[in-house]
Parts: sequence; structure tokens; C-alpha cells
Amino acid sequence: MIKKSEIKKKINLILELQNHGIDKADVLKVMEEVDRQIFVEESLRKKAYDNIALPIDCGQTISQPLVVALMTQFLDIKKNMRVLEIGTGSGYQTFILSKLARFVYTVERHKFLYINAYNLFKKLMVTNIFCKHDDGGLGWKDQAPFDRIIVTASAPEIPGKLVEQLSINGKMIIPIGDQHNDQILKSISKNNETLSITDIGSVRFVPLLEGKENK
Ligand code: SAH
Repeated sequence: MIKKSEIKKKINLILELQNHGIDKADVLKVMEEVDRQIFVEESLRKKAYDNIALPIDCGQTISQPLVVALMTQFLDIKKNMRVLEIGTGSGYQTFILSKLARFVYTVERHKFLYINAYNLFKKLMVTNIFCKHDDGGLGWKDQAPFDRIIVTASAPEIPGKLVEQLSINGKMIIPIGDQHNDQILKSISKNNETLSITDIGSVRFVPLLEGKENK
């Protein structure tokens, strides 16, 4: 049962998202519906509705709700779309995407996080998320092309393999820059053979690392 104080915190969070430009009804609705508490460890649950990133296992973070909402809004997901996410982490962003898209393919390099997210989606009885333990910089070739690609870790430059796996008229969102500083969130649209790239704003993400971890 959700407590009254939690409902209040959730309402405040939604108002904060609206104040920061989140105005698409479907995005606000899923941000309101999805319970962020289930994606963090017990001791952090009271902070789940604060608009902050929180630590998860393997030294990673669950993204800040405003950043999740912003990236989701920019992706402009339609019901029939196939989305690739790189960096499953807690599975919070994945679950949000699964409420808007037809299928979500998500890749995580840490085995521990991959297993946790896989089990959580099973428990939540989600049937349109496919998880993979791999180096997401390689994308998910067998399932390409994707209408949308979202990368939730920062890269020094736009990974070519991911651009290759983006559909014509597809859109990708990724933080680009130095891992020790703020990065620029970029929106990349593929039109035939040309890419158009727009800067959205400054963000701070954990780095996109090469290879996979077997723990
Ligand atoms: N969207 C997630 C964000 C997690 S942080 C959430 O809200 O919980 C970023 C995640 O990207 C981490 O779990 C990290 O392990 C993962 N990651 C970093 N480099 C990766 C790579 N090359 N392939 C797949 N996952 C990667």
C-alpha cells in the first residue's frame, strides 16, 4: 500500500517535471504510474521520489527522474516502435520505455545487474522487454534496426555500431563527453544517409565502458 506521504512526494515530483518542460501527457502518465521504489534497495526507498540519481549495485546509478522523463519525451515513442536501450542498470528507464513502445531490447554489461533486472521484469510480468548481458556498444545486431535507441551511459563519441542499427527516420539519444565532467545530451536523427544532431542540455552519467563484467 502506498502511504499518504509518498503520494504527496510523487505529486511534487510530477509538478517538478512539469516545471522543467515535461508536457507530453503519455510521459507524465507513465512517470506517475511507475513506482520508482521497486528499482532501488530498501534503505533508499524513502528517497525514491526525490528528483535525484541514487546508487545501485556495481557502483552504478539509477538515473534522476527528470533525466529519465526528458530522454523519454525526446525519443517521441509511438506504440508500434522497437526500442534499444544500452545500460539496463536498475531497469527503471527500461520499464518506463516498455509502457510506451511495442518492444524494448536492453543490454547491460554487468551480469549482476542484468540478472536482477531480468528477474524483476519477470516478477512484474512484463512481456515486451528482452534483456541481454553484453557490451552494449555493439548494439543488438540480430534484432536491428531499431526505431529508437537510448544510451544511459556517457560515451566520448557517438558509437558507429549504434548508428548503423538505427532505422531510417530513427532517433537516438545519448550523453556525449568526458566521463569526469558534465556531458551533452544529444539527439541524433537519421534521415536516409545523413544524420542531424541536436544538443539537448548538460547531464552527468556514468561512463559507457567496453566489454562485459561476469559478476
Ligand atoms: N537507465 C539506468 C541507468 C543505469 S547507469 C537506470 O536508470 O537504472 C548506466 C548503466 O550502463 C550501468 O548499469 C552500466 O553498467 C551500464 N553500462 C555501461 N557501459 C555499458 C556497455 N558498454 N554496455 C552495456 N551497459 C553498459
